[in-house]
Amino acid sequence: METIRPLLCPHAKKCGGCQLQHLPYEKQLARKQRRTQELLGDFGPVLPILGMEDPTHYRNKVTAAFALDTNRKIVSGIYQPGSHAVVPVDDCLIEDETADRIIVSIRGMLRDFKIKVYDERSGTGWLRHVLVRRGFSTGQVLVVLVAASPVFPTQKPFVKALLEKHPEITSVVLNVNDRFGPVVLGTREKVLFGEGSIEDLLCGYRFRISPRSFYQINPVQTEKLYRTAVDFAQLTGKETVLDAYCGVGTIGITASVGAKQVIGVELNRDAVGDAIVNARINGVKNCWFTAGDAGEYMEQMARDGMRPDLVFLDPPRSGSDERFLSSLLRCAPKRVVYVSCDPETLARDLGVLASGGYKVQKIQPVDMFPYTRHVETVVLMTKTDDGEK
Ligand code: SAH
Repeated sequence: METIRPLLCPHAKKCGGCQLQHLPYEKQLARKQRRTQELLGDFGPVLPILGMEDPTHYRNKVTAAFALDTNRKIVSGIYQPGSHAVVPVDDCLIEDETADRIIVSIRGMLRDFKIKVYDERSGTGWLRHVLVRRGFSTGQVLVVLVAASPVFPTQKPFVKALLEKHPEITSVVLNVNDRFGPVVLGTREKVLFGEGSIEDLLCGYRFRISPRSFYQINPVQTEKLYRTAVDFAQLTGKETVLDAYCGVGTIGITASVGAKQVIGVELNRDAVGDAIVNARINGVKNCWFTAGDAGEYMEQMARDGMRPDLVFLDPPRSGSDERFLSSLLRCAPKRVVYVSCDPETLARDLGVLASGGYKVQKIQPVDMFPYTRHVETVVLMTKTDDGEK
């Protein structure tokens, strides 16, 4: 029987973000271990999950929605699942505390600076979301104001007052999102202060991260995740490595010291731009990054007869796709290291690779998202026959 205990967070029921809120941390880990075993155990051995020492306030990125409540009071927080109602949240068990404080300050400043919050129903008002990202190692803080239009009459005094209240902020960006729908960030941006991005350190490397680039949200666990992935790769300095779904190049750059060369492919152009800068600022000369669909790129590699020795893939929750996996089988790398944030799509994709001649050697779950039901996993697969495809 699982121990049920009082909820730690007063918003838990409405917010729904921390599905394992009622369980002590060791039980959360045990449950994730069981789930990984159930979903993936038939493929190969599942190692004990890597947990966190302090599983709270790990989220380095916080997004708050702004709205008016029924009394026309400004609230900020999280959308209630399946609805457009905002659950007011001022401090959250898993979010970075500096980020939460900045969001509360911004809310308190809006009336003085005549900033109206956006109303989805009427399409009036201006401020939709505030996103804060903090580099845990560098302390750099980026604030992104997401608004319905670029017109911001009180911009100068507002930014000045915000920086006076929070001197830890290193950059402020205005992002314009004038579309309906659940996507937080729009495509237009204006830097109001600082560099328009943050830097963070991971595994001894420095990474620049732009507002729309993906970056792992739990940096403490990310180091464990990447070290596992690089360890599984067992590079000898001779390999050509593909880092598919590479984001800002974190896995490829971390692995580059052990490889002959690394090629990264990523759909998001901002992230590719960051990855190129990241190779440069770390003095890494054997990494190349390219923008595009990973499946299309892999298909091209297969067509051109290119055979990477090792492929890292770290796709979004939906997993990889038929095009990528079938082309990977044609390229026939000796090793595949699959980093996944969804064990269900991972199981589906491992099935495809297993029937194409790959054997799962080990499976390492990592707890990147304490208090939630999500599990991250690193899987090492090796090619079982030497036959050329
Ligand atoms: N490996 C990186 C990023 C992982 S997140 C890290 O650890 O930080 C998954 C990444 O896949 C995101 O950056 C997303 O933009 C990218 N992506 C999503 N669909 C893609 C596709 N079809 N082809 C290439 N990249 C894709």
